[in-house]
Amino acid sequence: MLPFFPNPYPNELLYSAIARYHFYSGNIDCKDTLEELFGSRSVIPSVEIGSYFSVLAEQLGSQYSIESLLAHHTIYPYYASFLSEARQQEILQDVLEDGQALYTRLGIVAGSICRKDGLYYCAECAKDDNAQYGEPYIHREHQLQGINYCPNHEIPLRQYPIKSDSRIAYVRFEMRHMNLTAIYEVDNYKEIAVEIAKQAYELLQLPIHELSREVVSTKYRSLLRARNLITASNHVRQKELYKGVASSFPSGFLQEYESELSEFDEYNWLKVLTRNSKRHVHPLRHLFLMHFLQQDIGSLVITSTDQGAFGTGPFPCLNKAAEHYKQFIIQDVDVTRDFKTKNLIGTFTCSCGFIYARKQSTDIFKIGRVKEFGHVRYQKLIDLSRGNISIRAIARELGADSKTVKKYLEPPIFKQDQQKVPMTVSKLDSYKAEFIAIVQKHPQSSRTQLRKIYQKEYMYLYSHDKEWLFNTLPAPQKLYNEVKTVDWNKRDIQYSNAIKTLYEQLWASEKPIRITTSLLGKRLGILANLERYLEQLPITKRLLEQITESVEQFQIRRCCKIIDNLKCELSDVKLWRVQRLAGIKSKDFKTIQPILEVYIQEGGIDEQQRYKA
Ligand SMILES: [Zn+2]
Ligand SMILES: [Zn+2]
Repeated sequence: MLPFFPNPYPNELLYSAIARYHFYSGNIDCKDTLEELFGSRSVIPSVEIGSYFSVLAEQLGSQYSIESLLAHHTIYPYYASFLSEARQQEILQDVLEDGQALYTRLGIVAGSICRKDGLYYCAECAKDDNAQYGEPYIHREHQLQGINYCPNHEIPLRQYPIKSDSRIAYVRFEMRHMNLTAIYEVDNYKEIAVEIAKQAYELLQLPIHELSREVVSTKYRSLLRARNLITASNHVRQKELYKGVASSFPSGFLQEYESELSEFDEYNWLKVLTRNSKRHVHPLRHLFLMHFLQQDIGSLVITSTDQGAFGTGPFPCLNKAAEHYKQFIIQDVDVTRDFKTKNLIGTFTCSCGFIYARKQSTDIFKIGRVKEFGHVRYQKLIDLSRGNISIRAIARELGADSKTVKKYLEPPIFKQDQQKVPMTVSKLDSYKAEFIAIVQKHPQSSRTQLRKIYQKEYMYLYSHDKEWLFNTLPAPQKLYNEVKTVDWNKRDIQYSNAIKTLYEQLWASEKPIRITTSLLGKRLGILANLERYLEQLPITKRLLEQITESVEQFQIRRCCKIIDNLKCELSDVKLWRVQRLAGIKSKDFKTIQPILEVYIQEGGIDEQQRYKA
């Protein structure tokens, strides 16, 4: 381990910390510094990413890990959220070795646009840093391709006049070389360029690999779907999207940022971005799409992944006559678009024969239209009709309208071409003869299939001579074999694992989020099951009891985090300040105040202890 190393400042490039080390070490030859840091005189320092992380992390001591260096002191997080999971793993591997190829690798995967020549600084940041730390330093957020403004001061970045003259000399920022005036050229694109700079900065602050190309692209789909930019057949309406994106930027802006769109180019970045393409796209262009979608990084992180127009199911059967009424047993939905109204229509087919349809974004327990009555419902109708109750009462019981019930109760009428049977026989007998012929004609068909095709005959026989019908029909197959029996034990383990992973992510997120069953359930798309079947999921239930937070618990956690942060800057943490930062009403704050007082006295971790630990 090195006898000393200047702690990297917030968002300082590793390269900059090394340059400062070189300066303070008193070394004259850069190669001496390289040898001290990397144990080699022939290492070539890379500016944006840095290299030889493993050697460096070891030299710097236990408070620095390879991942934390990568996450906090390189520009890698600008790219990381939009790389495929496979690529992220490759890069971590790369970094373990020497990380030399990393920058080239990122350039190749995402394409280089708006390349920067030399190093950049913000005059106001430099002044602040000088006042706070006694020296300026190289901020990573000022070195990003396509970012020309300081996200904090909203002023243009300036190029540092000194370039490294040889590949192994380190440039250290010094106030005397900087232009600190407040005079800047007028820039018509300033507003949007500042917005993009702020988003790029947010990307740098995300926990490393919180997002990936796979996750982001399904979030995009969900956002595009909400804007009606996805068709019923799941295609992106590229033409409309192109128009929307092009018009959401001032004219000339996209050209200026080397991202001009040509509608007819099959490989324009917008198409590549929104298709299920394997190609990577530059982070700047992701930020452009997000600008159009009116999303910031924070809202993108919490956007749920695309569930399709009707969600992922299972869906409830809404057949009031069935025992499984309102249970989620229909696995799939068939999506079509209504020709006239252009609404998306979902059709749900249950094993009880009941088929219903409803429009997108309507109540899942509300039937739009019944498309098929089904045998279970018909049987109930017949049973009810034998009792002494009115058609209206039957209709109510079945959840159908009276007209439909009437229609089903009327005896079927013969079609002309079916009158092969002598007229002298009774109606029932003629149906029976007819049906025997049908069964013989379709030796391969199951009961269900026959019932579907010859519904009228089936229903008539069912209501007049059920026993005969069942004896005549082919042997029954398992009627409910489509309904999958659920392995709750397996599900319990799957759910609890998924919840644990999500919980860790939520817990670690920069901005505290209250952990509730509903939040966890929604994010994982399992809320309905958590609400309905929690008793069948004992492990999950116990886990939820342990980790979910009451409003008060959440307030306490939020406040403790604020106290930790304040303790890094101030020796004396005032409770009123904590309350204001947490935005908690005085009435509520009073109840948690004693706990916080104890926390400030004993529980707060001060910075030195944290690093000793
Ligand atoms: Zn600044
Ligand atoms: Zn059903």
